[in-house]
Amino acid sequence: MSDCYNRNFRKITDFSPFLCNFDEKYTLNTVKMKKQTQAIHTGYMRRDAYDSLSMPVYHTAAYEFDNAEIMADAFTGRILAPDYSRVMNPTVMYFEDKVKQLTGANDAIAFTSGMAAIANTLMALGRAGANVVTSGHVFGNTYALMSKTLSRFGLEPRLVDLTDIAQVEAAVDADTCCIYLEVITNPQMEVADLRALARVAHSRGIPLVADTTAIPFTQFNAHQLGVDIEVVSSTKYLSGGATSIGGLVIDYGTVKDFDKTMRFEMLLNMGAYMTPHVAYMQTLGLETLDARYRLQSANARDLAERLTTLPAIKRVNYIGLKDNPYHELALSQFGPTAGAMLTIDLADKEACWNFLDNLRLIRRATNLFDNKSLAIHPASTIFGPLTQQERDAMDVLDTTIRLSVGLEDVDDLFEDIRQALA
Ligand SMILES: *Cc1c(COP(=O)(O)O)cnc(C)c1O
Repeated sequence: MSDCYNRNFRKITDFSPFLCNFDEKYTLNTVKMKKQTQAIHTGYMRRDAYDSLSMPVYHTAAYEFDNAEIMADAFTGRILAPDYSRVMNPTVMYFEDKVKQLTGANDAIAFTSGMAAIANTLMALGRAGANVVTSGHVFGNTYALMSKTLSRFGLEPRLVDLTDIAQVEAAVDADTCCIYLEVITNPQMEVADLRALARVAHSRGIPLVADTTAIPFTQFNAHQLGVDIEVVSSTKYLSGGATSIGGLVIDYGTVKDFDKTMRFEMLLNMGAYMTPHVAYMQTLGLETLDARYRLQSANARDLAERLTTLPAIKRVNYIGLKDNPYHELALSQFGPTAGAMLTIDLADKEACWNFLDNLRLIRRATNLFDNKSLAIHPASTIFGPLTQQERDAMDVLDTTIRLSVGLEDVDDLFEDIRQALA
């Protein structure tokens, strides 16, 4: 009885197991259930008053308390009870708990966007005078966040070739707050050795932070490869239908006080917590993530193989192809699937633009891992604001088209690409 208040809130003394098995009705065999079953059946924090089968969308800013003592306990974190939706919301917590169950992480924290997840993580780990050892081969806004925004506050990005471990070792010093990378870079399609980077990071007492947006966490266990903190743009595979913008920070509990800082400092002070309606849509996306991803990655492999037969295409860059330089490493890190992003190189920029203009089925759009297949010319769009010199330094070529392969029939996708090149 002492552990329980009249409103069924769990009393907690430790912040770290922040979200835990909620409704006992659904948690009996949670540990034994397979991931896909967990993705569907993770229970609610409290039983819904109407036994709603879907998680209700709690569109509320604040929550009422029965008495002053419960209120004080909620505000000081002694019980797990939402007080204000900038920090906690039952619909968002349900989404977070599903991610936590699927990854086996210490905590999963949902943000308004992938960029918010990345920015809040770097702000929690860094400080003025510190540096982040990373690469120029990162998502355009991540690059700008580090080189423009955060560097104004004294956090220095150190750009190295993360596939060259000697360079990484030389760049890390006493002021390095983390090593940061993307598991498949875009559009270079480069794969760094996570185990080797983790060895460098851990031997110097710093965390390895990985943006795993390109391969879903249902497919590989980043923590087993040495990743301490995962950041994800849930806008992509997870939302699936490109319904909403969202981000996740998945914390494996290896960095002292990180989880506490994220929840009780960053969420409170930066105010970038996911909203309940987005959490509802992304929870639906999460339930079908694995099924969609398996079809999408199989489509990408099939399409990549067929594209190598077209003479107008100078190069197909897909880590799932056996002759790709990162194929073996990717296989050992991510397992048999290789994602649904690939690039093709054509003769020149004009050929790329003509190709885009001739597409009839594949959509001209940014974004990745929508149900629809998408094509973009990164050099003139995402990297368009940069100078030619900066693009050269980032290996963003004028000849490259990026394709995100969707759920369509591969015959139709191949036919569209064939006719657009003709
Ligand atoms: C899209 C993307 C981001 C940014 O995510 P948003 O949800 O658009 O803010 C970060 N990293 C990678 C690898 C991405 O593809």
